Formats: sequence, C-alpha cells, structure tokens
Amino acid sequence: MTLKCPVCGEKTISINDKLTKGKKKRIKCSNCKSELVPSNWFIVLIFFQTIIYSLITTNDMHIAEKIIISVLLFILLLCAFIYIVSLEKYEEENS
Ligand SMILES: [Zn+2]
Repeated sequence: MTLKCPVCGEKTISINDKLTKGKKKRIKCSNCKSELVPSNWFIVLIFFQTIIYSLITTNDMHIAEKIIISVLLFILLLCAFIYIVSLEKYEEENS
C-alpha cells in the first residue's frame, strides 16, 4: 500500500514513511526527489484526540471500557492521519 506523491502524482510514498517521518525527518519521493512533510491538519487531529482523551479520563466508566475506547480512538486517528492528512512539498524557510 503506497500513497501518491503530491508533486509528481506517482505512488512512491509508503504508509510507514508517513507514520515514522514528519517535520524533522522529511519524506523523500523516490521519483521526483521532492521533500515532503505532513500538512498542518495533523495538529487538528492531535487537538481532537486531547479533547476526547480528557473526556474519557474524567468520565466515570469501567477501566476496561476506557481502554477499549482509547484503543479504538488510537486506530481511528491513525487511519485519519494516513488517509486524510495530506502531504505537502517542503519549502525551505527563509528567515
Ligand atoms: Zn514525486
């Protein structure tokens, strides 16, 4: 399973690369040599995750239920990150 490069449109990005690389260690397209970073949408995902987690931990639920919900939430966010968060071409910041 590979993802399309946003620059050349070739399926050169592995999901593993997207999950393990990011802002610091950039993803490199093997076809057009573009350096890619995840778009800022992942910050929104982290924001939602934090809200839901705080709701779970303050809720008076059984510990097993909390664990199940946490695991499901983690899988959901992982899928959202892989399929919704797009990659952008990395531009060197001139400051
Ligand atoms: Zn490319």
